[in-house]
Amino acid sequence: MSKDKSEYLINRKDNQYEVVIGLEVHAQVTSESKLFSTSSTKFGAEPNTQVSLVDAALPGMLPVINEYCVKQAIKTGIGLKAKINKRSVFDRKNYFYADLPQGYQISQFKDPIVGEGKVILDMPDGQKEVGIERLHLEQDAGKSIHDLDPKNTFVDLNRSGVALMEIVSKPDLRSPDEVNAYIKKLRSIMRYLGTCDGNMQEGSLRADVNVSVRKKGSKVFGTRCEIKNVNSIKFMQMAIEYEANRQVDLIEEGQSIDQETRLFDTKKNETRSMRSKEDAHDYRYFPDPDLLPLEVSDDFIEKLKLEIPELPDEKKKRFIEKFKLSPYEATILVSDNETSNYFENVIKKSDVKLATNWIIGELFAALNEKNLEITESPISAGNLSKLINLIKDGTISGKIAKTVFEHMMEGDKDPKKIVDEKGLKQESDPKALEALIDKVIDDNREKATEYKSGKVKLFGFFVGQVMKVSGGKANPQLVNEILKRKL
Ligand code: ADP
Ligand code: MG
Repeated sequence: MSKDKSEYLINRKDNQYEVVIGLEVHAQVTSESKLFSTSSTKFGAEPNTQVSLVDAALPGMLPVINEYCVKQAIKTGIGLKAKINKRSVFDRKNYFYADLPQGYQISQFKDPIVGEGKVILDMPDGQKEVGIERLHLEQDAGKSIHDLDPKNTFVDLNRSGVALMEIVSKPDLRSPDEVNAYIKKLRSIMRYLGTCDGNMQEGSLRADVNVSVRKKGSKVFGTRCEIKNVNSIKFMQMAIEYEANRQVDLIEEGQSIDQETRLFDTKKNETRSMRSKEDAHDYRYFPDPDLLPLEVSDDFIEKLKLEIPELPDEKKKRFIEKFKLSPYEATILVSDNETSNYFENVIKKSDVKLATNWIIGELFAALNEKNLEITESPISAGNLSKLINLIKDGTISGKIAKTVFEHMMEGDKDPKKIVDEKGLKQESDPKALEALIDKVIDDNREKATEYKSGKVKLFGFFVGQVMKVSGGKANPQLVNEILKRKL
């Protein structure tokens, strides 16, 4: 692993400082309707077409909890190996903004639905556990649009009332690389569970990033700054790097850090102050009188446990034990459900080792080049296993297989047909090979004599010539054997 640049920068004063990071991730619950209304949550609809009386907060409206969203939050809690709280309370978080017609957000404050849990990170130098503080359910706000008109701001309430899970980590993260691994693992778990699609472009996953620095070896945390609403992993990493360096500079100048909320400017690549602790909001949380405390039974939770699929950590363990994959290979293949399904389909009928190499190597590179997901792969799992079997039984060489593979990427074709149609079958008939080899030796008399008189290095030359004359189709193993005999 190359040393990442940010690590160098953060630790630049002779490696004296370390950065401490805690994330508040906002994950949109996968659900057809909103947390307290029946409006659709579909992304990309015409503005203000998915707004019920509840979402617009008209007088007299009454929120009704969406049981499906509750189930999704509990499932996520189970996936995070967390404590599920059988009793939780919805509170009103009061503040004024144009895109918040209620004048408050319904959230959970003192009694969240999910308590402490953990996420395991797969880092290059081993695994690391990151603590989860809590997960609570809350409503999303609407959207203010400032750049459509020079004088006016528009408000779109389609997002108003959509269910979010806020997942708060402990301050356990220590580098931008760990943040990258944490977000990816969290997203992978939620995608396996089907509880959040993790689509960062559409804003389904975003985070408030809390950053502080301290001298290495120190037991106390430094004062943190919170960078609001960062919506890509890259930006999170850039913001942390900038912020950590800003704080180290202040400390080195003998100044103190103010606890404040900051914004990351993606164009200037810097964070800037939004509000200080002194003018921090007093949200005046209180239990929402429209909603009873939420109580779930053991039975309800147990039934949900039965719906939990095999999750990435367990799948990785199984892949390593059952298929003898390396931790590296297993981590890559379990990163999402679709990839692991594809892999398991390929190896149903073909060699595991070859399948692993072909998927992680050739297939991923080709998909990447065409910007395709594994679900859009032009090569089906069935046809890839056929290709692998053609290599395994000696019909084609690994080299020819790459040519066949390229043809397969052009469309979902049966590799056997490609081999037949293009005459790519490996030449494994000893008689035919002998004739070829005789001819090559004949054409290169001088070199053959040199070889016989001890210049053994020339063997490679002869192999190369035979392969060339055969158009790459000669069985390399047989060529070696026969050449040795003949020379
Ligand atoms: P708040 O609502 O004030 O932001 P939360 O408890 O919701 O408080 O979130 C606090 C977040 O800040 C958590 O993710 C926590 O891990 C993180 N955090 C707390 N102290 C520090 C610190 N000294 N440095 C970095 N992150 C911290
Ligand atoms: Mg916060």
